[in-house]
Amino acid sequence: MSRTPFVAGNWKMHKTVAEAEEFITALLPLAGAVDDVQIGVCVPFTAIQAVVDSTRGSSIEVYAQNVHEAEKGAYTGEISLAMLDELEVHGVVVGHSERRQYFNETDAALRAKVPAILAAGLTPILCCGESDAQREGNETEAVLRTQVVEGLADVADEDLAKVTIAYEPIWAIGTGKVATPEQAQETCKYVRSLVAERSQEAAEAIRIQYGGSVKPGNAAELLSLPDVDGALVGGAALEADSFAGIIEGARA
Ligand code: PEP
Repeated sequence: MSRTPFVAGNWKMHKTVAEAEEFITALLPLAGAVDDVQIGVCVPFTAIQAVVDSTRGSSIEVYAQNVHEAEKGAYTGEISLAMLDELEVHGVVVGHSERRQYFNETDAALRAKVPAILAAGLTPILCCGESDAQREGNETEAVLRTQVVEGLADVADEDLAKVTIAYEPIWAIGTGKVATPEQAQETCKYVRSLVAERSQEAAEAIRIQYGGSVKPGNAAELLSLPDVDGALVGGAALEADSFAGIIEGARA
């Protein structure tokens, strides 16, 4: 089955509204009309409205970087799906290793968030990935099994393919130490096999991104791998030129 590549840039805690608008102004002529790659930017809450407005009518989709699973309530500082939906975001990236590590986002919370995002009609990007020590200790598959199985546990089989999974080895995030093509392919294939345990049809359709030090210079090779359907990009997604270079790599 041919799957449309999906390249998303995760801005993390970068870009004021003015900086976000400047980025989109630079990106639109480079990638705003690309129709063979799905493109997303994962934007801080404060800049979402401005980026939704400035990308309207283009092929660039806007994602939030977190959401609370509850409909509403006494959760100071949190943002609900209704609030994001009102801003017309396309989806939400959840389970990033930084949120797991610094903000205690647990597999149990993700088990609630992923189906809640789908129920709101939005697209979840569910991140998973092992640490250096876990890879060294041959625990990669066990770690990914827990994260993926738990994160998808309350998603109906017929909805599994609506989720995007981002495989992001923690040792490759922001380090410049990219996974080898063999590691990326083997591990993304393993993630797909976990989905196949639930539904073969969903496993063939679901997009699995690789993330971790993707740059314009390595994107084409990584994104040509059979089980890598795109990229989740941090540092190299902060400049329009390099983000556009990665999008071009997905088209190669
Ligand atoms: C990320 O934060 O999701 C990421 C992959 O970062 P970088 O591309 O900078 O490694």
